[in-house]
Amino acid sequence: MNFLHTLTGSFAQPAAENPTVAMIEAAYRHHGMEWRYVNCEVPPERLADAVRGARAMGWAGFNCSLPHKVTVIEHLDGLAPSAQIIGAVNTVVLQGDLLVGENTDGQGFVEALRPVCTIEGQRVLLFGAGGAARAVAVELALAGAAHITVVNRGRLRGQELADLIAARTGATAEYLHWQPTMQIPTGTGIVVNATSIGLFPNVDDQLDIDWSTLRPGMVVADAIPNPPRTHLIRTAEAAGCTVLDGLGMLVNQGAVAIRLWSGVDVDRGVMRRELERVLL
Ligand code: NDP
Repeated sequence: MNFLHTLTGSFAQPAAENPTVAMIEAAYRHHGMEWRYVNCEVPPERLADAVRGARAMGWAGFNCSLPHKVTVIEHLDGLAPSAQIIGAVNTVVLQGDLLVGENTDGQGFVEALRPVCTIEGQRVLLFGAGGAARAVAVELALAGAAHITVVNRGRLRGQELADLIAARTGATAEYLHWQPTMQIPTGTGIVVNATSIGLFPNVDDQLDIDWSTLRPGMVVADAIPNPPRTHLIRTAEAAGCTVLDGLGMLVNQGAVAIRLWSGVDVDRGVMRRELERVLL
């Protein structure tokens, strides 16, 4: 018998509403892995101690959520290339004796997207310029998207993200200020909502866009995981677009994290069903 499980987990505040532990442990159980995922409430002033504790106990890695995604970097030994460009870390991986920061939000998004469309050469319209949008934009650009148009309410963050993509990846990028009833430019292949519009409990909030400019053949993705069937997803589906909900991104970013920690490529269906069971 082995009574010593490999430890992983999450450091966040607040932590109680984060369902990640349920989907990750479902994957561990399904694959017969003797691994555990511990959901920890860690305030900012205790983050350094939490990381030291994880090192001391030999954790294989951990996730960082709000408010630690940027501040955790100073406690790590290195960053993966895309996490360095994004400037934020949501997954830390023990490599030998070193703790390396990764960002699986965008990688998970790209893995969720790959089965439904080719990313290479696409023109992307991205709503939002916060943490999720930065991760999605950088990974789409690194995956070969040709052009990313960033649309954001706040001009400063939007312009900064477009400049980052243009400077640090092979894609071209521009910032477009969010005008009322914004039209989706013709030639757009992928539309992504990475704002928090539509997130529970504000489930009736809608993007301010001209819905008639959503066309069949476009891929429309929403980062909002709860509820998964947002107004955007329902409207895009009715317009004949291919849709991708935020649960797909959430499941895939977790699956990428498990792969980085353990090398095991887990069954995403198991994780999605567990999330649906606990959330819906
Ligand atoms: P941030 O707070 O960093 O960014 C929020 C973004 O939403 C900003 O671009 C902000 O614009 C925009 N925004 C918020 N409210 C409005 C509004 N009323 N009108 C227009 N724009 C608005 O959050 P994150 O980037 O971390 O998260 C964004 C969403 O992505 C969240 O809902 C989160 O749940 C989801 N997410 C999903 C993941 C998944 O795996 N499915 C992973 C990570 C995040 P401005 O700059 O003008 O303030």
